[in-house]
Order: sequence, then C-alpha cells, then structure tokens
Amino acid sequence: MTLRDDTDGDPTFLLVPRNDNVRDALVHQALGVTATNGLLMQTATRNADSSSNANPSTPMYGHAPISLLPNAFPAHEYVKARRLAPIWNELVARVAYDREWLLRTLESVLPHDDFTRRLVEIYQAIDGAGRDVQKIHLGVNRSDYMLHVEGAASTSSSPSIKQVEINTIASSFGCLSTEVTRLHRYLVQKILGCTRLYTPSWFFPYNDTMRGLAHGLAMAHNEYMRQESCLSRPSTSSQHRRHPCVLMIVQPGERNINDQKLLEVALWEGFGVPLHRATLLEVAGEGHLDLQGRQNLLLKSPLVSEAEEKAGQGEEVEVTVAYFRAAYDPSDYPSEEEWKGRELIEMSAAIKCPCISYHLAGTKKVQEALSRPGELERFLKKPADVAAIRDCLMGLHGLEPGLAGAEEAVKAARASPEDFVLKPQREGGGHNLYGAELVEALVRLAPEERAAYILMEKIRPPPFDSHFVRDGQVLHGAAAFELGVYGVFLGDGECQRVLLNESVGHLLRTKLATSQEGGVAAGFAVLSSPLLVLSQEGGKWARRRQFAELQKYSMSGPAWRRKSSIWRRAVALSVFGGVVLGFAAVAKAVDKRRSR
Ligand code: ADP
Ligand code: MG
Repeated sequence: MTLRDDTDGDPTFLLVPRNDNVRDALVHQALGVTATNGLLMQTATRNADSSSNANPSTPMYGHAPISLLPNAFPAHEYVKARRLAPIWNELVARVAYDREWLLRTLESVLPHDDFTRRLVEIYQAIDGAGRDVQKIHLGVNRSDYMLHVEGAASTSSSPSIKQVEINTIASSFGCLSTEVTRLHRYLVQKILGCTRLYTPSWFFPYNDTMRGLAHGLAMAHNEYMRQESCLSRPSTSSQHRRHPCVLMIVQPGERNINDQKLLEVALWEGFGVPLHRATLLEVAGEGHLDLQGRQNLLLKSPLVSEAEEKAGQGEEVEVTVAYFRAAYDPSDYPSEEEWKGRELIEMSAAIKCPCISYHLAGTKKVQEALSRPGELERFLKKPADVAAIRDCLMGLHGLEPGLAGAEEAVKAARASPEDFVLKPQREGGGHNLYGAELVEALVRLAPEERAAYILMEKIRPPPFDSHFVRDGQVLHGAAAFELGVYGVFLGDGECQRVLLNESVGHLLRTKLATSQEGGVAAGFAVLSSPLLVLSQEGGKWARRRQFAELQKYSMSGPAWRRKSSIWRRAVALSVFGGVVLGFAAVAKAVDKRRSR
C-alpha cells in the first residue's frame, strides 16, 4: 500500500477511500479497533446457540454504527459552536432559575401534554423542599447544530451553523464520540499513511469529551463531599456504613451501554470516584431520604447479602450526584413507581444532573420562547453573547392561539410543508412531523392543542459524499451531518458561584441526506468525526490565529489550562529575569561611578 503524507491542501483522500481495496482494508481495521476500544453497542438479540454452555443472560455486542472516515467541516463554524457552549450553559442555568418565566412559558403546553405537566407538578412540589437543600446543579448540555445554506444551490452563501435543539438531559454518545475520533485518527494515520494531522489547510481535532464529562461529574461529587464535611451531622440510629457514589439513572435494557460504561471507567480511573447504576424503579424500591441529615439519598448496596444486613453489617450507597441517562421520555415512566423514584431524587440533597428545572429549560417550547424579541436579553448580560446565540437560531414559531405570527406560520407551513418541521415536547428522536403528516396534524389539531407543538423552519445542509458502516456492511451515499457540542456547567442558578463552565468536546453524526431524523440509537445516523477545513482568507496571521484557537479546543480543559499556565509562567519568569538583570546592571553602574 502506498503511504501518503500530504501536507498541502487537498484533504479529499482522507474523506473517501480511493478504491475498493483501500475501502475493504479500512473496514477490516475499523471493525477490529471498534471491538478493541469498546466502540460498541449492545445488540438486541442474544446468541441462541443452544449447544453453547454460555450463560444465556450474557450480553452480546456489535460495533456502533460509524462513518468509515471523517467528514470535512468548516473550521470557523466548528470554533463558533465550541465558543457558544459556555454561553448556552449560562443561559440554561439562568432560565432554569427563573421560576416565574419558566412556568409562564410552559403554561400553554400543559393542558395537552401530560408528560410535561407531570414534570411541572414535581417542579412545583419540590419548591422549598428539594430546591433549597441543594443549590448547586450540574449541567451536561449538548447543543446540536446543522450547517445551513441560504438560497438556491447556484447562489448559496457559505454554510453557517444553525441550532437544531439543546439537550439538557441524558446527552449521550460523549464517550463513543471520543472513541470514534481515536478510530479515525488511527485509520487516517495507519491505513492512509497520513502522519501529519495538522497542515496549513486542515486540522484534525482531538476529542476529549470522555474526560471532560468525567471531570464534571468528579467536581460535582467533590463539591457534595465538601458540603457534607461542613455540616455537623447528628448521630443517626442507622449502623450502616455509607458509600458515597455518583448514581447513573439508566433505562432497563439499555443498548447504548458502552457509552455509559466508558464514562464509569474514566470516572474511576481518572478521579477515583465510584459510579452506581439504578433504574427509576430501583430508586423507588430501594431508596430513602435520611431525614436526620439534609435529605441525603440512600440506596441499599447491591453487594450486601440479607444475612449481612441482618447482622448489622449493612452498607448503603449515598448518592452524591444523580446523573440521568433516562427519565426524559414518557416510556421511562410505565407506572407510578418510576414517578416516585424521580420525585425522591428531586427532593434529595444529591447534586442533580440535571435538576428538573434544567430538564424543563431544555424543552422545545423554551427554545422557541427564547427566540422571541427581547427574551435572550432578559437572561444574558453581554450584548455579544445575545448576538452570538441569536445568530445560530433558525426561525421558530409558537402556535398558541392569540400569539402574534402563529396563524401566519400555520398558513405558511400548510402551503409549503417541505420548509418546516413540527415538533412536540419530546426527546430521543422519531417524534417530529414532516410533509404530509405535518399538514394533516395542523388540520386535525384544535388551535389550543397546537400549542403543545412548535413549528421550526427547516435547516438546509449542503449534501456531501460519505461511507457508512452498519453491521459490518458499507453503505455509500449523499449525507448530511449534525454537530453536537458538549458543555459542562457546575454552579448555582444565579451564576454567583460557578465552579465550572466549559466546552468539553464534540459529537458529529452523519445521516443519509434523504433521512429526516438524526438519532444514532434510533437507527437514523452514524457516529463520525470532523476534519476541519481552515479558511484560506486573511493571510498567514489569520491562519495562525485559527490554529491557536483550534489547539485550545483540541485539548481537554485541564490540559489547556496546564499548557497556558506553563506559557504564563514562562513569560512571568522572563519578565522577572529581565527586571533582575536590569537592577543588577543599574547597581553595577552606580557602584562603578562611586568607586571613581
Ligand atoms: P429530538 O429531541 O427527538 O432529538 P430534534 O429536534 O433533535 O429532536 O430533531 C430530531 C432530528 O430531526 C434532528 O436530529 C435532525 O436530523 C432533524 N431536524 C430537527 N429539526 C430540524 C430542522 N429545523 N431542519 C432540518 N432537520 C431537522
Ligand atoms: Mg436531537
């Protein structure tokens, strides 16, 4: 195989295999690496080989759906998306804190959306109870963008990012996206022989999402432990030993298990913090609040036998951080028990990720309400932040009766449904309505019922060529992609005490251009990574600036802080050295004059 090390210009050979032999070699290597690095998902079916002695409940895994090679993405739009993450974090925190605005915004949705209504009821019920025992919240937000081109293909402008939605609960794929970046780097370097991943025209960023998320959870865990250490705890009657843990709330039968397990391992290996998994049903059945303490959430430890329990050698898991990877869809609450579990968590002193007000702040209705004139200004102090957020918003329309512009939007959507998406207040993919279904819904729904939906103008991504790998098979076709940027925030609602607010990494999902939806777990998209194409405008210095900025976003927060602090120290040391030398020279000159 010929090895190439293209340092100038054209990255095309990194995006599409040049012949079938190269493609087959890439697939072969990719499948090996996905298995080695845990870039896997649990398959729905088990191995039904009856002659095998294997435990029938042993889970089976297959590779996660991936794109064979990275996809080209404009570097300046990538940087823009990364810069927006801390602003979105702050916005979510402030919106979630503004109780009166949040309830007013969601009011029109509640009569026709039982799920959102139940969430709001819990939000109101915890007022003064759970809300006050824990003021610090952890946000793991992922803002999703697509590239949008304005106008017809011949006259179109250069593409710019537009937000699809912001996920404030169970933002997944952070760890698998780190692994897919590692896979693509390996394939590009080893199989395509391109050892230099930075050139004057393109840049292949690292993706440290896994560490960034683990770091956020660890900081929240440490903050809880610090709060506990400041309290004088009354002696309790319980003899159980407490084992402080992060609790991951999961769906029963979760298929995207490796994404979660990689995070669990990163949290333990990187920060020494243990993570315990439980469903909402298990929390309801095994959890209770320590009312002698500050409503600490305690669960029965799975490692303790009944005999040990009876002998008073019990152990309980004390939940420091309740990290939701479930509880965002009505199907996560098949009975009242699951609602009880959710309420128990919200009432507790655990730091929630997210707390219920963050969950509500991530609804589509809130996204629409924020796009109205004057609303962003209510929450963000800096005009530059407001302008940056507004610039990435697509046209959004609320549909409640009497709202200015609602009837016009409905008329426009019925006349040209191909330009709109109708969205209910749901997460997880597969709920949106397009084309004929959208028109049918707008005709069928009474004006008050429409208020439970929002209308969004369609984003028009430029199509490009991509190779997908699903179940070991390669599929080739025109594709579109969605860039997700993860932001981690730890602080209070007023943003007076902010312990962490950073952009930690990215997720690129690629889907067939003909597919309307975009979820990986829902089967619409595959995981990919961006190969950033640098703008050649502005000369050498502009390119250097782009490079410096990209380096910053290529490293984890702590690594970047280390690097910049080394620079700061080096500069400080040279200044100090210069001053000392200057003094020495002056002293010498004075000495000389005196001795004369
Ligand atoms: P969910 O919460 O179910 O993920 P999204 O708002 O992310 O809902 O929509 C699901 C998918 O639908 C997206 O991943 C994207 O592919 C597509 N989609 C959503 N909004 C738009 C839009 N305005 N224009 C084009 N496609 C969209
Ligand atoms: Mg989505």
